[in-house]
Amino acid sequence: MGLPERSDESSRQSDGERPGRRLFLSRALGTTAGLVVVAAAGAVTGGVTSAYAAPVSGQGPTRQQGQRNWRFCNKCFGMFYYGYPQNGVCPAGGAHYMAGYDFDIPYNVGETPNAQANWRFCDRCYGMFFFGYPSGGWCPVGGSHHAAGFNFVLPHEVVETPNAQAYWRFCTNCYGLFFWGYPSKGRCPAGNEHNAAGFNFVIPHW
Ligand SMILES: [Zn+2]
Ligand SMILES: [Zn+2]
Ligand SMILES: [Zn+2]
Repeated sequence: MGLPERSDESSRQSDGERPGRRLFLSRALGTTAGLVVVAAAGAVTGGVTSAYAAPVSGQGPTRQQGQRNWRFCNKCFGMFYYGYPQNGVCPAGGAHYMAGYDFDIPYNVGETPNAQANWRFCDRCYGMFFFGYPSGGWCPVGGSHHAAGFNFVLPHEVVETPNAQAYWRFCTNCYGLFFWGYPSKGRCPAGNEHNAAGFNFVIPHW
């Protein structure tokens, strides 16, 4: 399996796919403030709120105030915490398997138009998931993800840099964070592949 570096995947998909993918940037996850605005516009669909994404900022995210040891799993394409002796539970079977960058994810900082809070560690599967809805999504262990630890705040709609990787997305089925830089969208605990929606997250790494 390949690493999640963009330099690897960019050659694996057609140039024509990029503009289409950009259209997804006009959709955004519903934050508390976003729900109000979007509900008024009548744009709530399928339980996942759509909103206009913030414009791309000219500055990439920094690596300050983050937690390291977050890694890409090359089996399910999800983001998981690699700081324990065990590597959690992968929806593709067995434990997650790390590859690629050592991500350094900001936490306990303010939410901004270019950074979304309520991303959490699941202490059952070790994955990162969005806990901004009443449900905790779908955990590969069974039932919903269970939040523990820090409140992570993920940069989005900012430029990709040598120390920050784009194309990390929210999955509408499992609520997990996964990398959509490959033609495949990995393995979702809810079945089949993940399904991307919302922001284009740009995750700092070493
Ligand atoms: Zn996995
Ligand atoms: Zn979980
Ligand atoms: Zn999923």
